[in-house]
Amino acid sequence: MRYLVLSDIHANLEALEAVLAEARGYDQTLVLGDVIGYGADPNAVVDRLRALTGVTFIRGNHDKVGTGLDPVGGFNHLARHAIQWTATTLTPDNHAWVAALGRGPVEIDDLVEICHGSPFDEDAYIFDELDVRHAFTAATRPLCLFGHTHVPAVFCIGPSGLQPVGPPRGTHFQITLEHGSRYLVNCGAVGQPRDADPRAAYGIVDTDARLLTVLRVEYDMPLAQAKILAAGLPEVLAHRLAIGR
Ligand code: ZN
Repeated sequence: MRYLVLSDIHANLEALEAVLAEARGYDQTLVLGDVIGYGADPNAVVDRLRALTGVTFIRGNHDKVGTGLDPVGGFNHLARHAIQWTATTLTPDNHAWVAALGRGPVEIDDLVEICHGSPFDEDAYIFDELDVRHAFTAATRPLCLFGHTHVPAVFCIGPSGLQPVGPPRGTHFQITLEHGSRYLVNCGAVGQPRDADPRAAYGIVDTDARLLTVLRVEYDMPLAQAKILAAGLPEVLAHRLAIGR
């Protein structure tokens, strides 16, 4: 089985379209949450995702706040402004669809599980070694795919403990998933990368070949930025796309 891995699309239609145009040879798609928030195309992105087949979705924190499932209080000023705009922009039908997205983690097969933040808490971030060790104790599959930080990352625990891998950088980064090792992998954000590479990020997991690839693709960023400004969203949300932060 080959999975296309998409996370943190954040209403960036141009980035999503670029990834879908470039990604090849996958059987199913995994969407790890935060389909909305920050970007100017929540309805077009949701419509595009709803039209895909063979997709497993889970929700992110922006999906919850944008549909009223969680309070906005935990968001900073920028995220709050954007999600409040998003909440009033979503059509009732798309609002209901986003609100019904399932909670992670979800076990996909014997090798793969997915979560938005971490396998122990859908809203928790995996940044440092403590987060990583906590996540490995909670993960139930050899490969746990996560999102939420918008930073591509690979953590591996093998027979001798935690091993440094990566980080995934460049246009095409590939690792072999070794038997006897366990992995926590963030394939990056489609719609708002924060690793200083502004290109859209996505992953391909081939469970038969035990290969995981993180890829980057250019997209029509000026159009995505112009839409953010035209919507009256904070300028910094347009600028940050260009610097990948
Ligand atoms: Zn996000």
